[in-house]
Amino acid sequence: MEPGKLFVVATPIGNLGDITLRAIETIRSIDFVICEDSREALKLLKHLEIEKPLFVLNARNETDSINKIIMKIGNGENCALTSDAGTPCISDPGVRLVNEAIRNQIQVVGIPGANAAILALSISGLPTDSFVFEGFIPQKKGRQKKLKELSEEKRTIVLYESVYRIEKLISELAEYMPDRFVVICRELTKMFEECMRGFPSNLLEQLSQSKIKGEFVVIIAPKFWKEKVYSES
Ligand code: SAM
Repeated sequence: MEPGKLFVVATPIGNLGDITLRAIETIRSIDFVICEDSREALKLLKHLEIEKPLFVLNARNETDSINKIIMKIGNGENCALTSDAGTPCISDPGVRLVNEAIRNQIQVVGIPGANAAILALSISGLPTDSFVFEGFIPQKKGRQKKLKELSEEKRTIVLYESVYRIEKLISELAEYMPDRFVVICRELTKMFEECMRGFPSNLLEQLSQSKIKGEFVVIIAPKFWKEKVYSES
């Protein structure tokens, strides 16, 4: 029996219009969809008018689920790995499954699409020739060490942050790297999408003026970038 394939399919990060034609074709063609949360997957499938069996994969059931999925693919079934939003495996579940598929000689096919980090970077106006993606920095243990390390970083830094900690993060940036230019991209591709630009202390002031909601990507300019740009203008 020929094994099936594992398609790693990017889905929208807010605007359902951002699903690609290839992602739709792939989801139509496969036998089952691997998702993080069945409610989110059903929302997308309903929008696409596609019905497929769902298989939930998340941190709680990872080991057991991976074994079952690898067995199903080994028996010839094709499947699409998706996450709640954007590109699977990028600050989202799926890395271990992809790794296990490769170890089992299963073909892994990427179906590209939305990713919050790359989108934010592309509209940040900050250098993109070399950047470092840190995703969510540690919440407690190791957080200060990471911030200190990032304060020396000479490449553009891309971080993810949730609504619960965005003010905390920006106040820490004001402390650890007050002279670094920062871009906060909020609710990308959604109705209230916006980018806030400035130094951490200005951004903190803006954030505290209204009850801010949504999802955030924070882009931090490389060390010394500000000096270079201001001396040129
Ligand atoms: N896999 C996703 C991707 O490809 O971007 C990222 C998933 S991660 C669990 C979720 C985080 O991504 C959010 O907390 C936020 O930092 C960022 N994010 C996702 N969608 C976003 C959006 N529409 N606007 C801004 N940030 C977003």
